[in-house]
Amino acid sequence: MPTIVPSHLLTPKALPSLPSVALEVMRIAEDQSATLEEIARAVSRDPGLTAKLLKLSNSALFNMGSGVHTIQQASMILGMKSVMMLALSFSLVEAMDEDEDSSFDFGDFWTRSLTVAVAGRRLATESGNPDLADEAFLCGMLSHIGGSVLARGLSDDYAGLMEKAPGNWPTNAEEEAHFGFSESDVIEALLGSWSLPKRTMMAVAYMQRPESLPSGQNTETRELTAIMTLASLTSRTLWDENKATPYRTLQRWTAARYGIGKRRLDKLLNELGAGVSEVAGLSNIKLPDHMNTHNLVAAAREQLLTRSLSSEFDLHQVRQAKEDLRLQKEEFQRLASTDALTKLPNRAALDQKLSEEVRRRLGRNLPDGLGVLMVDVDHFKSFNDTHGHAAGDAVLAAISDVLVEILRPGDFAARYGGEEFTVIMPLTTEQGMESTAERIRASIEAARIPWEGDSLRVTISLGGARLEVAQSELDGARLLEEADAKLYDAKGSGRNCARL
Ligand code: GH3
Ligand code: MG
Ligand code: MG
Repeated sequence: MPTIVPSHLLTPKALPSLPSVALEVMRIAEDQSATLEEIARAVSRDPGLTAKLLKLSNSALFNMGSGVHTIQQASMILGMKSVMMLALSFSLVEAMDEDEDSSFDFGDFWTRSLTVAVAGRRLATESGNPDLADEAFLCGMLSHIGGSVLARGLSDDYAGLMEKAPGNWPTNAEEEAHFGFSESDVIEALLGSWSLPKRTMMAVAYMQRPESLPSGQNTETRELTAIMTLASLTSRTLWDENKATPYRTLQRWTAARYGIGKRRLDKLLNELGAGVSEVAGLSNIKLPDHMNTHNLVAAAREQLLTRSLSSEFDLHQVRQAKEDLRLQKEEFQRLASTDALTKLPNRAALDQKLSEEVRRRLGRNLPDGLGVLMVDVDHFKSFNDTHGHAAGDAVLAAISDVLVEILRPGDFAARYGGEEFTVIMPLTTEQGMESTAERIRASIEAARIPWEGDSLRVTISLGGARLEVAQSELDGARLLEEADAKLYDAKGSGRNCARL
């Protein structure tokens, strides 16, 4: 926790206090053996919160298809973690509403927080991280809480800072220059005292200064922080008076990091309005009349055209060039962990993922087991001899496509090496693993791989192993060995089959 934030700002009086339901939800969230029933019971104790969650589950934003009538159903469909995240998000709205005597502009505060929340959720999905979507939503709801604390605790001083550049919320750098610390420092101290999940806290505290994110964070934390950085730029593009800088940065980063082009970005920005209005309606948050995202995006585009001619903009460009370099470095790192032929994660990335999953389980009781499948192409040597090495390469690429298509979002497929692949299933039952193995086997057997006018076919053999409780960091390596031994059994039993 940074010590630079004066302690009087962090006294209970200055901080928004969380409703008891939220505290209870957080307590349950920390308990690894918590059940769906428990969380549903805690949330159901607050009828207002329950109603909001149900409405949200049934809203277009969540797009669940069938009607959701109980928190139990919602938890089942959305997942326990999502319900916790959303429950926290909404009880936060209530907590912040209590104290309205300051001159702080709550309307603007919630408009921005909601925009970051809805943008974060959408960007998580667009960037291929759907499992981070609801956490991104919560991060968005929390995104400006530091500013509200600053505004409350230092009302006159903060108002002065806000008036310096009307319509633009102060940046971290401006706050630091003025107070010696920033909104982000306050957030870090504040969320630390709320015992939120570490990853949520880091993403909220560093979304406005991702370059300062302490090193050694895991992939999910870095990914969530990056998503929230973009979500925060989205909100600035829409709501700041000065839109050019955040808009330009947003364009560059979404392109560099996720390959999202300018046109797709504008479409995304335009569509945010509906989601924001929907959630605002559920929370009785009043949005400004000019919530027309099309106009706001058009204004950003126009400003960008004008601003690029001015010299002040050049300074930003220098800073941005630096940031672009950093992103490029990250891109190189990503490439270093990807297999060139199949585009799957390579052996190094596999080892890292497996040890992360084992570490996550050490001393914990997760609801399902950690499964590993080893996949090996049958008689591939003679296949190469018959059809040529290039045809063999095409087969390996086709197999990776099948794996990617079949696996569930949380599963992880990698090229182990040569004609061998590994699948990690972080949460799976025995039957789940069996049916996945069979689906992979059958799909490869059925696949016809086009090659120089020909249609190639191969079969594979699979071996699998699973553990429920991890006892040592070495369990990952042991799982791989066990799966490999089973694969050997499968080969011995005539190939084109799975042994678990
Ligand atoms: P088994 O059914 O027992 O697995 O027989 P196999 O022939 O597949 O096993 P073996 O380990 O003897 O041979 C593996 C072959 O996989 C040999 C090698 O040429 C081929 N191979 C490994 N990596 C690649 C690759 O990147 N491209 C191509 N085309 N072939 C590869
Ligand atoms: Mg082999
Ligand atoms: Mg083989």
